[in-house]
Amino acid sequence: MRTSAFAFVVTLFACSAPGASNETSAPAWTAENGVTIGTPRARNGDTLRVLVYHDMEGLAGQDDYRTFNYSHPEFYAKGRQYLVADVNAVVDGLFAGGATSVDIVDGHGSGNPAPDLDPALLDPRAKQLTRDSSFRQYTDIVTANTYDAIAAVGMHAKTGSKGFASHTVTLGMDLWMNGRSITESEMVAYSWGRVGVPMVFVSGDDKLAADLQTMPWVRFVVTKHATSASTVTLRNVDSVHAEMKAQAAEAMRKIADAKTITVKEPVQAALRVVLPASLRPLRGVPGVTLSPEGDRVDFTAKDFQEAYDGLNSLIGVARLAYPATQNEVIRARPDSTLIARLQRERLMERWFDVESGRWTPPVPAAPVAGRKYYGAQ
Ligand SMILES: [Zn+2]
Repeated sequence: MRTSAFAFVVTLFACSAPGASNETSAPAWTAENGVTIGTPRARNGDTLRVLVYHDMEGLAGQDDYRTFNYSHPEFYAKGRQYLVADVNAVVDGLFAGGATSVDIVDGHGSGNPAPDLDPALLDPRAKQLTRDSSFRQYTDIVTANTYDAIAAVGMHAKTGSKGFASHTVTLGMDLWMNGRSITESEMVAYSWGRVGVPMVFVSGDDKLAADLQTMPWVRFVVTKHATSASTVTLRNVDSVHAEMKAQAAEAMRKIADAKTITVKEPVQAALRVVLPASLRPLRGVPGVTLSPEGDRVDFTAKDFQEAYDGLNSLIGVARLAYPATQNEVIRARPDSTLIARLQRERLMERWFDVESGRWTPPVPAAPVAGRKYYGAQ
């Protein structure tokens, strides 16, 4: 998601990731506890239905955070080009390897009310997944016997991995399940693992490749090498796309080798935060297990869904600290005194209106009839 600054260096690298060119290297981690590695649910005959998630931070050719932010239209337009090029390369490979249908779902959410992936440019053999109301892409669409494999394109490393725009769900959040910090790619794999569907392909930067040593059966294509959270060394884009096509095809041909991964239940979950997020407002609340440093809350959930929901609620608390940076911006402006007074007046008005019974809370927007929803936007 949202970071800063960029560099532009084009270099050709060899891929070094799980399931890709160096299949002989052993995974750095084994599933002794915390997760269960399983066998996918049996398929119906020859059908091979694939759901492709896409994010927008791990794209080939991309080295500027503004390309994944709708608030920078001229750069965002470029980001959409990178996105559809990566997705189409993967779709092409999936069909070449034997996929019988490919659906695409937007896992990014740039703020654009239209989908980040331009439908007019998508390979016509693939279909964008939509619903009549907003939905949470990682959990609400997970049902048995709808897909046989999951792929994920343009993904990013987790908070603390020093990848390009590395984060988990949003800025400054680090999600833990059963003693391990996890990426969003793993979260998607855990979620679909519940209904016996394996994740088989992921693309993103080299730091995400390192994060995903946990799933050695996944075909991974390195799109670029992160040199900081806001700078990268790019790979040759044509080479990346050729590799995407080859690895996506191979993921289909070798579908029998894929594994499911699920988190053992009950789940020991935790949210750890770094700036600009904060959990310090929860200090001193009886029943809340906050670390002495005030940067982590631990809880036990009965299953993956409860852990996921609880983590998202805690994220909602932790992100309340983001406006601290907005206040820094305001304080640096010549009209900061006026803005501070207007903010204060709005707060007082709201207080008086609520206290006097004059305040009618806004009604949450109902789904708009006829509108297509591409996710939680
Ligand atoms: Zn994203």
